[in-house]
Amino acid sequence: MEILDSPAALAAWADARRRTGTIGLVPTMGYLHAGHASLIAALRPVCDHLVVSIFVNPLQFGANEDLATYPRDREGDLRTCAAHGADAVFVPTAMYPEGFATTVTVSGLTEGLCGASRPTHFAGVATVVTRLWGLSRCDVSIFGEKDFQQLAVLRRLAEDLGLPVAVRGGPIVREPDGLAMSSRNKYLSEADRARAASLSASLRAMQAAAAQGERDVAALVAIGRSTLHVDREDYLSVVDAGTLAPVQTLGGRAARALVAAWLGSTRLIDNVAIGEGT
Ligand code: AMP
Repeated sequence: MEILDSPAALAAWADARRRTGTIGLVPTMGYLHAGHASLIAALRPVCDHLVVSIFVNPLQFGANEDLATYPRDREGDLRTCAAHGADAVFVPTAMYPEGFATTVTVSGLTEGLCGASRPTHFAGVATVVTRLWGLSRCDVSIFGEKDFQQLAVLRRLAEDLGLPVAVRGGPIVREPDGLAMSSRNKYLSEADRARAASLSASLRAMQAAAAQGERDVAALVAIGRSTLHVDREDYLSVVDAGTLAPVQTLGGRAARALVAAWLGSTRLIDNVAIGEGT
């Protein structure tokens, strides 16, 4: 497995590899867990050359967010990448060139849900992913449904700009009690870790009520809220799975229930498909 420690090294690797087959890219911020590993494993059979990127991207953190404390484990991450068949790992110390002055923004999809409380987040994500796609010249790239809004934004970005990359989604990998795996789970105290399972429990309660015929989203949200044990809810919403527009009544179209909530100083997110269009 090759270690690529600069954008120039990634570009040179990609230039050589694309002559002999397709390139797959798994973008991450590191501190890899089984959710990340599932994305590497899912992409392995659909490309000839597979690169994982590990970069804690300052552009996607707000001023008061956890950039300085974001967990890191370079050696563990390299072992995970190797174990799941990566051909190369891009671990740059610097990502952006001197004089960098470009921001990629996707409107509409980025305004609600996480975008409402993290107004610069998705521009940071779209900018770094566009740069990663450009440097790696990847044919296919994969993102977790854990960050459902991010996946929708990046699909929109690739389609709108005609970028020659197929964007795939991978299912959410969970702990045995249902908590979606996240690098940020490491921040949780023992008591908060126990309560954190209530995010997925609340979404499952909403799913179960929908399966029993409840169509009214306000009623579904009330059911979810009664199961949510957190310090502060950011949002608990049901949206159209394609447009991310709020839904009042479940109907034929695929819908998604999403939650974001704070436990102490840790913000967690989760989501599930809901209703018969799923
Ligand atoms: P991150 O390192 O948090 O930026 O995540 C890198 C990629 O892994 C993103 O596409 C995430 O959506 C995905 N991911 C994170 N957690 C999970 C999970 N529990 N299951 C599946 N994918 C995940």
